[in-house]
Amino acid sequence: MYGGLWCFNIREFDNSYYLHAKESISPISGEFNREYFNTILSAPKAEKLSAKALLATEQRIPGLGNGTLQDILFNSKIHPKKKVSSFTEDNKDNIFNSIKSTLKEMTQQGGRDTEKDLFGNPGGYITKLSKNTANKPCKICGTPIIKEAYMGGSIYYCPKCQKI
Ligand SMILES: [Zn+2]
Repeated sequence: MYGGLWCFNIREFDNSYYLHAKESISPISGEFNREYFNTILSAPKAEKLSAKALLATEQRIPGLGNGTLQDILFNSKIHPKKKVSSFTEDNKDNIFNSIKSTLKEMTQQGGRDTEKDLFGNPGGYITKLSKNTANKPCKICGTPIIKEAYMGGSIYYCPKCQKI
């Protein structure tokens, strides 16, 4: 987990992470539509990735990180380790719709309850999968939520609802 605040002249901030994120389309904008999502899915090397890697690495989808992707995958019933090459058309539709609806809900409610704003107040969005819900029953089927280390961070998932 890391974060930072910079003051800089926008033309002189030569940081590859920042520049790549700036060139990509924000998932909450209207330009991020099903067609655009298809270009991400069909990019070279994408099919070798897992669902988590697709969503949260290399700034393919700027701003979408490890905390956010847990609920996106839960809502689309996809296991974080599921390979993009095994996605059905339904999986692709569900994951796209879930990116849109989950991020909208998080934004409207002032962020996730696992994070604090600059004044120390937690967000109003109650996370479905996070450190707060590990080992607790899944809201849909009651199976305990699994916490696992994967790709330099924790993943949380319901082993029954989220198919690999
Ligand atoms: Zn479940």
